[in-house]
Amino acid sequence: MELGLAGRRALVTGAGKGIGRSLVQALHAAGVRVVAVSRTQADLDSLVRECPGVEPLCVDLADWEATEHALGSVGPVDLLVNNAGVALLQPFLEVTKEAFDTSFDVNLRAVIQVSQMVARGLIARGAPGAIVNVSSQASQRALTNHTVYCSTKGALDMLTKVMALELGPYQIRVNAVNPTVVMTPMGQANWNDPHKAKVMLDRIPLGKFAAPCLCPTCPPCPQRWRMWWTPSFSC
Ligand code: NAP
Repeated sequence: MELGLAGRRALVTGAGKGIGRSLVQALHAAGVRVVAVSRTQADLDSLVRECPGVEPLCVDLADWEATEHALGSVGPVDLLVNNAGVALLQPFLEVTKEAFDTSFDVNLRAVIQVSQMVARGLIARGAPGAIVNVSSQASQRALTNHTVYCSTKGALDMLTKVMALELGPYQIRVNAVNPTVVMTPMGQANWNDPHKAKVMLDRIPLGKFAAPCLCPTCPPCPQRWRMWWTPSFSC
């Protein structure tokens, strides 16, 4: 797929699995130089084997100081995808401080921190750029046991608007994408129960969840993004 991004440098968080990993593969196939940030070194090792030239960066984005240290010398970045996220599901009456803190640290605070670092670099270089925040349909819809997750994504949507407002004058575009269920490791952990899934599937016109293509040769495949809509498709 021709994205017109060849030669640019992108940073993708949560690059080890799921949506972030697929994004890195697609950007790499499009000739983008990618910095892949994630928490599990083994995921990054296999990603680099699949996509030679990708720059791995292993850090826990919930740790402010470690993130500051790890990204402090990352160099110029043109495109940022704030994709890393956690979904810790609990009934409202059982929400814990730990789940709240971890979720907001990763899903919201890290977006502010990483975006600040990237945006400051763009502004210093006088370069235009783009930031995409991976939010969720859960920012707009109440879902059972999703008190904390829905709250982080609702806050992320508003953060995106304020970032767009303040960074626009520097020619930095900021947008959010709000996917429905995607059968990544996160999606499988939370939506594998057929009874629970049915309630959601009944509200999706296509009647199926999205899924990253499982085909290992898929990055150059022009069908790649269409495959996403066919669960477990492998070409
Ligand atoms: P996933 O399968 O769980 O993958 C998430 C990736 O982010 C993993 O590589 C994970 O690394 C990394 N990550 C998580 N916490 C991190 C941290 N503290 N520091 C660094 N890396 C971290 O999730 P996904 O389904 O691809 O979701 C990606 C984004 O899409 C999330 O923001 C999610 O909220 C959003 N989203 C997902 C769905 C869905 O149904 N899947 C729907 C709408 C929106 P480890 O595995 O090593 O922790």
